Amino acid sequence: MADVHCADLGNDCSFVASADDAAGMQDAVMAHAAEAHPELLENMTPEVEAEIGKAITGAFSS
Ligand SMILES: [Zn+2]
Repeated sequence: MADVHCADLGNDCSFVASADDAAGMQDAVMAHAAEAHPELLENMTPEVEAEIGKAITGAFSS
């Protein structure tokens, strides 16, 4: 089980996603983003995508 804080992705938001693996985390983060930060998905850049991927990978590497 690991956590990714939405605030770590540059959002002023207290949401914390938790999941047992990276795939589940990806789902949890994207589901939250779709609900709470639709503008983030609309303006998704490779940089933002990489940042999210890095946060997810980082959460499971420690
Ligand atoms: Zn959020």
